[in-house]
Amino acid sequence: MTVAPFRKRQEARQTMECECGGSMKKEEKVVRWIGNDGQTYVIHNVPTYQCDEPDCDEEYEPGKISMMLSAIADLMEEGRLPDTVDFRRFKQ
Ligand SMILES: [Zn+2]
Repeated sequence: MTVAPFRKRQEARQTMECECGGSMKKEEKVVRWIGNDGQTYVIHNVPTYQCDEPDCDEEYEPGKISMMLSAIADLMEEGRLPDTVDFRRFKQ
């Protein structure tokens, strides 16, 4: 009896259910910003989850992705990475 809720929770984590009842689909987006130096920085293929309901624009970025994103952004602004990078390059 204790196995069922545990399994259900694991499934929910993989499919990512939105608060509206829709499901969150994995989607890769482009992150673009302008640094303090006026330079435009671009990171391609950043994985996020987006709700597939047309009326809902809920978006979820896993914590691990956010952490990597800010670390990469720092390195780019410090000039230790190019101004344009592909996020897939940094995935394990
Ligand atoms: Zn939704």
